[in-house]
Formats: sequence, structure tokens, C-alpha cells
Amino acid sequence: KTAPEKFTFQAEIKKLLDLLSHSLYQNREIAIRELISNASDALDKYRFLSLTDEALKDDQPLEIRLEPDKENRVLAICDNGVGMTHQELIDNIGTIAHSGSLDFLKNAKGDEKEEVSLIGKFGVGFYSAFMLADKVEVLTRSCQEEKGWKWESDGTGDFTIEPQEDLGRGTSIRLHLRKDLDEFTDDTRLKYILNKYSTFVPYPIKLGEELVNDQKPIWIEPKTQLTQEQYDGFYQYLAHNGEESARWHLHLSSDSPFQFHTILYCPQTNLELMGFGRTEHGISLCAKRILVQNDNRDLLPEYLRFLYGLVDSADLPLNISRESLQDNTVFRKIKKVLVKRVLSHLASMAKDDEEQYLEFYRQFGSALREGIGTDFENRDAIAKLLRFPSSRGTSETELVSLEAYLEKAGEDQKQIYYLGGNDFHTISRNPNLEIFRKKGIEVFFLPDPMDEIVLSNLAKFEDHDIISIDSAEVKLPGDEKAESDSEEKEDEKQEEQEALTPEFEKVLSLFEEELKDDVESVTKSDRLTDSPCCLVMPEGAISSQLQKVLSMGNK
Ligand code: ADP
Ligand code: MG
Repeated sequence: KTAPEKFTFQAEIKKLLDLLSHSLYQNREIAIRELISNASDALDKYRFLSLTDEALKDDQPLEIRLEPDKENRVLAICDNGVGMTHQELIDNIGTIAHSGSLDFLKNAKGDEKEEVSLIGKFGVGFYSAFMLADKVEVLTRSCQEEKGWKWESDGTGDFTIEPQEDLGRGTSIRLHLRKDLDEFTDDTRLKYILNKYSTFVPYPIKLGEELVNDQKPIWIEPKTQLTQEQYDGFYQYLAHNGEESARWHLHLSSDSPFQFHTILYCPQTNLELMGFGRTEHGISLCAKRILVQNDNRDLLPEYLRFLYGLVDSADLPLNISRESLQDNTVFRKIKKVLVKRVLSHLASMAKDDEEQYLEFYRQFGSALREGIGTDFENRDAIAKLLRFPSSRGTSETELVSLEAYLEKAGEDQKQIYYLGGNDFHTISRNPNLEIFRKKGIEVFFLPDPMDEIVLSNLAKFEDHDIISIDSAEVKLPGDEKAESDSEEKEDEKQEEQEALTPEFEKVLSLFEEELKDDVESVTKSDRLTDSPCCLVMPEGAISSQLQKVLSMGNK
């Protein structure tokens, strides 16, 4: 017999293992959850492969088994899913593919409990095995191969791989339990854990011969018969992100024009705001309760990528490739309906419970702003969901909608005004505001350049042009001259200029001469009440704040 091949873990994995084995984090149960979730994924993958490849099919029932061995202090978690080849063992459990997880691990300090509870989220759930075990064996045989392998590690720096005879299809993770962790061979304790975390796993989980989960598909049940606990449980199963319950959920069922059931969940926190990089998860897609894809990224537009959920439609074909799925009519229609329903759900939330909506907006407003630039079909609906700080409030935390803005605006106000700047208070001191203050016209204050980009991109809302108040296109309400046709305007402009005293004209030309390298022209302004002068942008130009932001991007 030849000696096992020896491999070294990637540096980040070593760090993770160190973090896990020295962590004071007491919730070791999550390791079971992670390993069961991997087993369930492996069964999904097998089922999917066997749908398209007849040769892989057999009559073994797909299931997960927990096999505790008290005497030897070993807990095995076994599945008859896809299994892994030699190369897959090296690629999947030995390196971290997902770049977001690498960043997460590099920044991990190892003493914060959230960091550990989040590990499932970053594609490193397998390693939680070392919270329970000081030696882990992975016995596995890929469904594509005759030969099996044994992977083994004590979780310090390296692992070995050697051939293993007589393995059935799938994977057994054998945990050699740490000292004092005998409880993980105890049936009652294990049942408790499975109940807590794995009720919704869609495969039978057996402890010895006993079935311990009920795999009930809650999405086909009528809403009225479901409890909050059931919704929470399903959320925890789908998201496994450490949150007890979702911020809100949307449960829809429809029979015509096509049949589908869905539950969508909005998380409590937007991890993208916390610097974790792009959210990377999709929607689970089922046809008649059978999972077709557990990570579909095409069923919701990108800007709604923060939602978790499941869609089940009897009208979707089972074995279909990703590409042809996107071309499927039912698929496209479901997508359309989902987006509309999510947006109308948000609209009614905003109407019924503003505080709750604003809390949502603080977390996920960035997603809606993204939608303005990408979802043209639903632009109006999204625009109504946006919120911005304004001159009506006292800080950037008080947010106002475009509709609320227009409600306060006078009949004769034909434009919606905004002004960018470094922060709320700097903006509020901008001399361009004086006339707006005097006339009592509300102006959106936009310290966040993203807001400014969104508003200038939106350009119009309910027949009102949206413009920056430092632009020459500003037409103040009640300013009759500005509203008359352009020929007249020219005349009046001239009249106005003529009306200037020769002294004032002299002043203007002196300024113009002095500033000729920096400004296009110097004119008399009606906008000022207290300040002697202000800078405005020529017609057609983008706002000065936006120019700053854009030039930052070029540096
Ligand atoms: P994630 O599940 O987010 O991908 P994990 O660290 O939990 O991250 O697992 C890493 C990878 O190891 C999985 O993506 C899968 O390829 C492989 N793996 C883990 N457990 C199993 C299993 N029971 N059967 C087959 N493959 C597995
Ligand atoms: Mg996993």
C-alpha cells in the first residue's frame, strides 16, 4: 500500500481553522447545520445530473443519514449525493474559490461571534467541522466514477488523500469529536439540533433508522395556515445567514395565466453595505416541488439580488439548461410578475408603515437606486420608492419621497429641484438656495453622489423636470418671463439688460474681464437675496457636484 498523498491548506484556510478551533463561540451546533446543508446540496446536484443523464439514475432513495458512534466518539454525516473526485476534493475542500470569503477571512479578528456564525454564507461552511472534531475524515465516491477516496485532516495545516475501497455513491463526513463534545453522539441532542436547523431540508434525514424531518413544502400551503415560526424556519434554511427571521416576506400563489407559488424574503441587513462585496446567491427554482436549480440568478433582475426565496411552477420544464430556461416564456412571465409584486409590496409598505419602510430603505435603498438605471419598464414604480434628504429636514437622515415633494409644491412649480454637495450642512449654506428659501420652495439636498446620479438620470417625475439648482435651466415658479416663448424671452432679456444702469453694466464687464479665463459669462441674477454672487452651470451642463464625482473617477 502506498503512502497517502499530502497537501497543504491555502493560507486563508489555515487562518480560518485557527479561528474556528480557538473561537470562544459556543454555538457549535451550526457545524451540523452546515454539513447537512452540504449533504443536501450534494443530493440536489446528483438529482439534477441524473435528470439529464439517464446512465446515472438508479433506485436508491436520496437521503441524509446521521450515524453516531458513542464508543469511538465519532459522528458520521452521510449522503448519497454527487460525491467528489480526487480533483474535486482538492478544489472544493482545500482552497477557497469565492473572493468575497477571502476578504472576509483576511479581516476576521476571531473574537466576534457574528464572524463565526456567518461562515456558511461565505462558502466555507465545511470547515466548521473542526469546531466539533480534531480529526475529520471525508469518505467519498463521485457518481461519475468507480473509485472512491479518503480525505483526512487534523485541521492544523495539511490534509491527505488516499484511495478508498468499497464506497457507495456519495459522501460520509466522519467527525472524530473533540474532548468534552460527546453530546454530539447523543440522539436527543442531535434531534434537537436537526429540529432547530434542518426541518426544511427537502430530503429525508435519518438518525439511525428514524426519520427526523418532515420536509413539508410550506410554499404550497395557504398563507393563513402558516405560522411565523414556519416562515422563519424556512428563511433560516434558505438564507442560513445567522438571522432569526427576515425583514419581510412575500408569499404569492397564482393559478392563472400560469401556475406558480413563491416565497421571497428580504434579509435584515444588507451585507453589501458592510463591505462584504456583492451579494452572491440566487433563487431556488422548483417544478412541481422538485428542485430544478438552487441558485438561479436570472429569475430576478440584478438589483433585487438581495432577496432570498423559492419559486415553484408546474409550468416549468424539469430538465432544461440554464440558457434555454431564460428563453422560456413561463420563466420570463414569472420574472415580470415577481418584480411587479415586489415593487408593489414595497409601495404598500411605504404607505402603511413609513417607519418600517424607511428602515428597509436605509438598508436596501441602494438596490432601488440601481434599478432606476437598469429596469426601464418599472422606472416609475421604482422612482416612487426613492427617498432623499431635503431642505425640509434638518439632517440627511430625514428622507422625503418625490411624491411628498410634489404634494408640498405649488401649482405653478414645474420643476423638481436638487443640490449636491459634500455634506448636508455645506449644501444648506450654498448661496444658490437663497431665492428658494425666500420663496419657500423645497430642494433635495444630496450629499450622496449616488443620489445625484440617480436623479439626473431619472430627469423627469410626473411631468416635472428634475434639475440641479446650480443649472441655468432653473425656471422659478411665478417667474412669468421664463415661461413665455423664447423669442419674447430674448426681447425681455434685452430689455432687462437695457434696464441696467450704466454703472452696473460697468461692474459686470469689469468682472467679466477679470474672470474671463474661468467663467463663460457674468450676468445679473434674480436668485440672490443676501449673497453678492453665486456660480451657476451653463445650460446643458451637468451639476458641479456631479462633475467633481466624475472627475474623481478619472483619477
Ligand atoms: P459551500 O457549501 O458554500 O460551497 P462549503 O465549505 O460548505 O462551501 O463546501 C465547499 C464545497 O465542498 C462545496 O461547494 C462542495 O463542492 C464540496 N462539498 C462539501 N460537502 C460535500 C458533500 N457532502 N458532497 C459533495 N460535495 C461536498
Ligand atoms: Mg456549504
